[in-house]
Amino acid sequence: MPRVFAERRKTGDLDLEAVELAFRTAIHSAGAAGLSELLREPGTIPTTVPCACGRHARYKDLRRQPILTVLGPAHMLRAYYWCAHCRQGGFPADCARDMEATEFSPGVRRMLALVDSECCCFDQGRQQMELLADREVTAKAVERVTEAIGADIARRQQEAIQQTMQLELPGAMGQPIPKMYVQMDGTGLPMVAKETEGRNGKAEDGRTHTREAKLGCVFTQTTVDDQGRPVRDEASTTYTGAIETAAEFSRRIYTEAHQRGWSRAQVKVVMEDGAEWIWNIAEEQFPGATQSSISITPVNTCGIWPANFIPATRNPNATG
Ligand SMILES: [Zn+2]
Repeated sequence: MPRVFAERRKTGDLDLEAVELAFRTAIHSAGAAGLSELLREPGTIPTTVPCACGRHARYKDLRRQPILTVLGPAHMLRAYYWCAHCRQGGFPADCARDMEATEFSPGVRRMLALVDSECCCFDQGRQQMELLADREVTAKAVERVTEAIGADIARRQQEAIQQTMQLELPGAMGQPIPKMYVQMDGTGLPMVAKETEGRNGKAEDGRTHTREAKLGCVFTQTTVDDQGRPVRDEASTTYTGAIETAAEFSRRIYTEAHQRGWSRAQVKVVMEDGAEWIWNIAEEQFPGATQSSISITPVNTCGIWPANFIPATRNPNATG
């Protein structure tokens, strides 16, 4: 920083980009030092803590862990506990700080997930982290963190699906919803060879190069436009999807619709393109709903969602 001021005095010039980035780095490293200070174990350390096995784990020593935070590299110092009963060791402070088995702080993990969702390869995510956040990570780290977040989301979704399948009519409480729509489709996702091993396909080498992702969305509609066409309620769409069997997806889309209040919808519409598996799900999970056949046109790289859906009122099968 003194160099920046000296240069300014000498030449009267300022390389603004270089200076702003240098200032950011300086301020970040001051912040990281403060953070490291905060991340020391607090004064009193309990001699024992409850262990997952039901017994108690005993304090062994303090251990240092380098981590990457949004402010830069920092260190955590935390107490290590050992349970002699189940012979497991652990760091209770890591759990409390959401730092279990990771060297990336929650803020950095949030950034990694975002940059990865915005682009198609992990190296681009790495470059974005460097430019936008001043943080150096490897492409492998971007991949590892986003995959872990993906696995966590998938686990929570499965829990929600299990819960919905066990309960009767979840989401039955609340205001009636005038019109609710469920829409489903499948789309081929390009895969690396290892993901399609042993699967036959139509390609010249007899192998398949894609796998089908099943996607669904749920949205509501209350108004029509000046020509009487239904308008999707703004920000009312929620999405779900996975590479999975039709039976698994059936429970997934059912869960999504019921969490959104399907049982409270006065008019229920299932939109589909006529594929047999989708038709089966509509019959099984959404009996009594108006089935509206549409041809779905891909409108963006994410797949199947039309900017505006074909008005149900124009469809001869639809009553909504
Ligand atoms: Zn134990």
